[in-house]
Amino acid sequence: MPATPAPATTPRRSSVTETVLTAENLVKHYPIKSGILRRTIGHVRALDGVSFELKAGETLGIVGESGCGKSTLGRMLMRLEEPTDGTLTVDGVDVYSLGRSEMRRMRRDIQIVFQDPYTSLNPRKTVADIIGEPFDIHPEVVPKGGRRKRVQELMEQVGLAPEHINRYPHQFSGGQRQRIGIARGIALNPKVLVCDEPVSALDVSVQAQVVNVLEKLQDELGLAYVFIAHDLGVVRHISDRVGVMYLGKMVELGTEDEIYERPTHPYTRALLSAVPVPDPTLRGTRDQIKLQGDVPSPANPPSGCRFHTRCWMAQDICSSDEPQLIARADLGGAHPSACHFAEDSVVSGTRKASD
Ligand code: SF4
Repeated sequence: MPATPAPATTPRRSSVTETVLTAENLVKHYPIKSGILRRTIGHVRALDGVSFELKAGETLGIVGESGCGKSTLGRMLMRLEEPTDGTLTVDGVDVYSLGRSEMRRMRRDIQIVFQDPYTSLNPRKTVADIIGEPFDIHPEVVPKGGRRKRVQELMEQVGLAPEHINRYPHQFSGGQRQRIGIARGIALNPKVLVCDEPVSALDVSVQAQVVNVLEKLQDELGLAYVFIAHDLGVVRHISDRVGVMYLGKMVELGTEDEIYERPTHPYTRALLSAVPVPDPTLRGTRDQIKLQGDVPSPANPPSGCRFHTRCWMAQDICSSDEPQLIARADLGGAHPSACHFAEDSVVSGTRKASD
């Protein structure tokens, strides 16, 4: 896991009230085809019943290992994938019931910034064309004849020199390219921006700058972010709440403080234990939990709790009964955690996979 750009200040928290996005039981199964007749012989269960709410101006971080379903989730929030099941509501509108033209209107409210600034920008287009692209579909957003001026305003908002409006992507650094992607993402004044690993492809020194741009825009525009990443340090810095995913399920959901200071799911604790400790004097003071084995195939997930094949706390019930993502009254109303033994996980504290 790469080192994390050290936040210069205490993580900021926005004041959040109104719900702008509600995901209920989102499911995405991809058929596995075989033979000349392309018969369906199974399904890859990329996402298997994920629910959460997002408030205006809030950042919800989504973390988990590769293949946990977090990028599928991001694409489903944009309706770049059709759901197998579930509902998605943005600003009170049932997104998956919309027709093509209604969906085009809806896209004004929810936009995405992709992971790789090197491949997500068309190399043959200028910055003016790339950032102004959303205006081709939504010309009503800019006054007639005001497109170029608006693109330059967007460039300034993300920290790019407006006089570089006629340059091509290859004339910018990686961080600057991601700023171009962000400017394109906010061009239509969306309410929600899905950030799919927006800093993963960048040098550590540049990551903090891009995160700072996102924070500044959130303060200025009241944007809500779904911030998908595998770097827990970055996610902690930017997020108000964090959802932890494992094998297509959300296994723990809480405030940044709850997840990082009081995790109750063994998988969350294992993930956190692998985050590098920047302070050399504190190294070696934290128990590292080494998980055994690989992540199972999403085409054939384990029964019961999907984490039971790697969990050092697993008991018989774990392989037969699936734990639900619920707040446990016996844990004093602690945040939701999908573990039969969340309480023991807290109490046991330092028990390791290798014990
Ligand atoms: Fe581990 Fe069982 Fe909790 Fe799953 S339900 S995380 S296997 S203790």
